Amino acid sequence: MTDSTSPALSLEFFPPRDIAAQERLVRAAKQMLAIQPRYVSVTFGAGGSTRAGTEETVRTLTNLGCDAAPHLSCIGASREQLRDILNHYREAGVHRVVALRGDLPSGMGGDAGELRYASDLVRFIREETGDWFHIEVAAYPEMHPQAASPTADLDHFVAKVRAGADAAITQYFFNADAYFDFVDRAQARGVAIPIVPGIMPITNYSQLSRFSEMCGAELPRWIRLRLAEFGDDKASIRAFGVDVVTELCQTLLDNGVPGLHFYTLNQSEATLGIWKNLQL
Ligand SMILES: Cc1cc2nc3c(=O)[nH]c(=O)nc-3n(C[C@H](O)[C@H](O)[C@H](O)COP(=O)(O)OP(=O)(O)OC[C@H]3O[C@@H](n4cnc5c(N)ncnc54)[C@H](O)[C@@H]3O)c2cc1C
Repeated sequence: MTDSTSPALSLEFFPPRDIAAQERLVRAAKQMLAIQPRYVSVTFGAGGSTRAGTEETVRTLTNLGCDAAPHLSCIGASREQLRDILNHYREAGVHRVVALRGDLPSGMGGDAGELRYASDLVRFIREETGDWFHIEVAAYPEMHPQAASPTADLDHFVAKVRAGADAAITQYFFNADAYFDFVDRAQARGVAIPIVPGIMPITNYSQLSRFSEMCGAELPRWIRLRLAEFGDDKASIRAFGVDVVTELCQTLLDNGVPGLHFYTLNQSEATLGIWKNLQL
């Protein structure tokens, strides 16, 4: 069992699209329970998934014995819809949510919803449900791609914390200095909540390039070059990826991070490989 002083590990999943993917998710989740995650989280709306998909996946993971936290984004939603979702989770005994603005699917202009930013959603959750939920928010060590500047982005992060967030999970990064610089700047502004690094295992070069392009995470040149050189050699990509990400996690742990949040992409192999190397 993890004790309260050891770094809290958490795992992120996305709602599977069909029965075969659902079976793969359950298999992967069961294997990853060896990590004894403090909680697992389930994305919302990303990649075209639905509210029902998130709710169902939260139920599945809860039934496996996990403390499962749904992500909730306010973009495109009315207050009434958000209230309904929050009530659903409250009735189901869920005590933790990841509160996000979210992104409108490309080509979908128009209705951005009644709440504009994640800070509005955090405030809304507190107004509606008091202290029922432990609220996690997103943080961007390398700056959110739509922010006007690093300082403006930090201002908006601080606003989310002041609105009532309990903890933050970062966008993934491969440069530990960006994370520590962000934490230093947030703490200098009076932020005292845990800011947990989001960890992206490296398993697929083209997918990682695409994600990084979209979310503004830097894929360092040396990593890019090494991955490109491996071409279709998936085994070498995975082995290299596990080594690189293990080293990143070790640096983070050596410097006292409060936890590690793994973006598992519903696959167990890379996350378990990193975890075993870390000998936690
Ligand atoms: C840990 C994590 C989990 C995620 N899970 C999901 C998911 O499940 N589903 C999904 O669709 N996406 C998810 N995302 C992606 C996220 O939705 C996008 O990055 C989105 O663009 C921003 O969401 P946010 O909650 O950080 O927004 P916000 O904190 O609202 O920030 C969005 C942008 O607006 C700016 N901003 C904030 N407040 C103001 C203000 N008052 N005035 C002007 N500008 C402002 C910020 O600087 C930033 O550039 C996740 C990201 C992370 C890091």
